[in-house]
Amino acid sequence: MGFFSKDKIAEQVFVKGKKLKCNVCDNDKFFYRESQLNTAIASFFDLDFANKKAHCYVCENCTKIQWFLEKV
Ligand SMILES: [Zn+2]
Repeated sequence: MGFFSKDKIAEQVFVKGKKLKCNVCDNDKFFYRESQLNTAIASFFDLDFANKKAHCYVCENCTKIQWFLEKV
């Protein structure tokens, strides 16, 4: 696969005190990734004020990505 480095371990994530859960498969373990928002996407969502960086939690099970603008 090569998408994740081998030493990464999926972890439970809490957002505002609540456990983050995948809304597709109900899994509660995620890989963390930091991503650059590309300019086209940032403009589309009117996020030019942001630093164009997003925090992503990738579901360990189904790989759905949950995006956050701020570190949670
Ligand atoms: Zn999932």
